[in-house]
Amino acid sequence: MFLKHYITGPIQVNTYLLADEETKDAIIIDLGGDWEEIKKDADGLGFKINYILLTHGHFDHILGIPEMQKKENIPVLINEKDLFLTQHLSEMLCHFRINSDVTSVRIDKFIDEQTPLKVGNYSITTLSTPGHTPGGQSYYVDGKLFSGDSLFKHSIGRTDLEGGNHSQLINSVKTKLFTLPPKTVVYPGHVDFTTIEDEIKNNIFVR
Ligand SMILES: [Zn+2]
Repeated sequence: MFLKHYITGPIQVNTYLLADEETKDAIIIDLGGDWEEIKKDADGLGFKINYILLTHGHFDHILGIPEMQKKENIPVLINEKDLFLTQHLSEMLCHFRINSDVTSVRIDKFIDEQTPLKVGNYSITTLSTPGHTPGGQSYYVDGKLFSGDSLFKHSIGRTDLEGGNHSQLINSVKTKLFTLPPKTVVYPGHVDFTTIEDEIKNNIFVR
C-alpha cells in the first residue's frame, strides 16, 4: 500500500494520502491544508482520490477541504456526531487565534463502524473512538492505524474541548485500539508515529 504523510494547516495536522498502487484508487485522511500539493502528487502518480476520510470534526483537520471543494467534487466522510463541529468553526478559530475566512465545511456522507469502506482492494475497518470528540473515529487498514487525536505517541488527545470526555477516551483507547495486533503502526493526527506495542508499554495516560 502506498502511504505519504504531509503536515498541513495552522496546527500542523498529519494528513495522509493512501492508495492501492495496483488499482490507483486513493483516499486522504484528514486535510488541514495544502490541497494543491497533495492533488499534484496524486495526479503525478496516476491516483484517483475517491474520498476524504475524517477522524473527527475539529477545524485543524478540515481547514483544507473548502479549497478542494472549489474545484473538485470529492466526497467528505465523517461520523454524524461530529457534524456540529464542522458547521461552527468561528468560535474555535477565535479560541486558537487562527485567522481564516472558513466558517463551515460541507460534509457529504456520514459513516460509522457499520459502513463498509475500501481503498482499491484494501478494506478499511472503522473503529468508533469517542472521547476527544463525540464522533471520533480511528481507521485500521493494512496493519496501519490512523488514530486522529484519540491516541498520540505516549499521549492521548485533550478532552477539555466541547464534547470531550476523558473516561470515554480512555475506554476507547483500551477497548478499540489496544486490542489491535501489537505490531500495528499508529499514524496519529499530530506529531510522531508509534506502535500499539509501544503504547501499551509506555503510554502513562492509559493504564
Ligand atoms: Zn482534535
